[in-house]
Amino acid sequence: MTYDEFRAAWLGSDDPDVKARNKQLCERYPFLIPRYEWSQEPLEDYDYEFTNLDDLPLGWRKAFGLQMCEELREILGDFLNDYRVIQIKEKFGQLRWYDNGIPRSISDKYNKWLDKYTDLSEETCIRCGKPGKMTTRGWESPYCEECFHKVYPNANYDEWTN
Ligand SMILES: [Zn+2]
Repeated sequence: MTYDEFRAAWLGSDDPDVKARNKQLCERYPFLIPRYEWSQEPLEDYDYEFTNLDDLPLGWRKAFGLQMCEELREILGDFLNDYRVIQIKEKFGQLRWYDNGIPRSISDKYNKWLDKYTDLSEETCIRCGKPGKMTTRGWESPYCEECFHKVYPNANYDEWTN
């Protein structure tokens, strides 16, 4: 299945069964299967209730979550099934994606991929996925103007963004 086919089917699905949808996701992107940090074994009794992608803030997930996984899948090639994600999170308003390493032969492509999405995360609203700016109010996070006003109703957007 091509990415466009997968994306259309996955995003367009009105299947309310989140487990079924997560299973499709994990079959295409096995690195999204949650594992124990030290043993690297899949979680006991794992039933696709959630995936590692759920750790990506919602706005970023909407804006580039799937695209990011697809590009990584292509870069990994034969290493796909041996690649392990350790942790996905946000820190200082920026995406952090930790894994257990990649072969040297793909490190250039991989580093470009990670830099691209780390930069993109800084200018993508963490709440809704629209273009945003880094706010210096409260926790450092990128917000679009609309979401910023929902979170800080009385603050001036330009005054509090970089
Ligand atoms: Zn927003």
